[in-house]
Amino acid sequence: VTAHDKENSSTIRLKKSLGQNFLKSQSAVERIVDLIGNEPSECVEIGPGAGAMTRLLLKRGHRVHAFEIDRRLEQPLGECFGDDPGFQLYMGDYLKSVIPEQLAQQEVCVVSNLPYHNGTAIIKKVLADFSNIKVCVFMVQKEVALRLEANPGTKAYGGLSVWVQTFAVPRILFHVSPHCFHPRPRVDSSVVGFVPRPLPGVDKARLTRTIHLLFQKRRKQLGTILKPFQTESLQAWMDEEGIDRRLRPENLTPEQFVGLSKCW
Ligand code: SAM
Repeated sequence: VTAHDKENSSTIRLKKSLGQNFLKSQSAVERIVDLIGNEPSECVEIGPGAGAMTRLLLKRGHRVHAFEIDRRLEQPLGECFGDDPGFQLYMGDYLKSVIPEQLAQQEVCVVSNLPYHNGTAIIKKVLADFSNIKVCVFMVQKEVALRLEANPGTKAYGGLSVWVQTFAVPRILFHVSPHCFHPRPRVDSSVVGFVPRPLPGVDKARLTRTIHLLFQKRRKQLGTILKPFQTESLQAWMDEEGIDRRLRPENLTPEQFVGLSKCW
């Protein structure tokens, strides 16, 4: 598979609107694929693009379920990897896709050099879609990586940090410079590894509602935000947790968001 920018009109014109910054550095590709480990695994790749990571994953004996939105890549990806029994291509927008039941429940590794414009939405959907994740490895812009890893009480901590840290422990593993991509992005990128952590009894819809409600009023005190929702169970929960009503949403841990989401 080859993909070039406007200067080479004989092949595919990369689209900024699809976040198409393809990896051209083989050493970056290897560092990412190394994180999946040596044991052959069932891998989900969002946005294989020209197949830089797909090729190495398959070579190492992993099976790859690749989700790609750009129809122009269907034929070249098929020509390159279609004969490999370990390769399965799903064409379409991953954000609108319904994951086959069997895959959703299988133990999977998820790997993606994420498109910048919708990377956070893809991460959230991955964590909701797959119930048995072994490890996730995501390339994101550095600013997003800092939000993913942020601790309560810091400026970068927000709804994304809470959601992701409810289901996984994210760690920034290394940074990747813009010259490793074609075309070069304007921002630095980071590779973040997620190891899932099971938090029992999370109701995803309730948690989403709670995160939205609280972070919409990020600067307000919890006492003020929660006033219209006072119930006995909410009062009891706050007392049990020893939560000061003057705290702000950014001071609550992911576990406390989950606890709070059960009170209404
Ligand atoms: N994996 C390749 C690499 O590292 O060279 C390409 C990475 S590129 C940053 C992002 C890829 O995601 C592109 O191939 C793009 O077409 C695809 N993509 C963007 N939005 C998508 C979506 N909603 N669903 C599936 N693929 C998407």
